[in-house]
Amino acid sequence: MSEIVRRVLETAEEAGAVSISAIDMEVGGMTFLAEDQMRTAYDSLVRGTMAEGSELRVTAVPASYRCGSCGSAGPVPPAHSPTHMAPLIECGECGEPAVLEGGKECRVTNIEAEVPDE
Ligand SMILES: [Zn+2]
Repeated sequence: MSEIVRRVLETAEEAGAVSISAIDMEVGGMTFLAEDQMRTAYDSLVRGTMAEGSELRVTAVPASYRCGSCGSAGPVPPAHSPTHMAPLIECGECGEPAVLEGGKECRVTNIEAEVPDE
């Protein structure tokens, strides 16, 4: 989380922003990051920076898989989350082991910042 906040502040600074009002994040279902914990961490990390008091908006991205045997893809069954760090996913079509394709995202998609006019 601190790495994310650092990058957000850097990006905003480079854009000449004086304050950040909100950031949007996409967080995958396989990252096991709890939204309220992220928010608490975010609030304490931005204290004293231009992002102090800004809003953290989290969009959950569901985990998905793609099968290497038959090529089918789909959402990871709820039974596989969120207790296993490296779950074995079985293809819903052919039952072969499938690989996780989505759900590990943890990225900032948008920064709402105030940039003063020249
Ligand atoms: Zn398959």
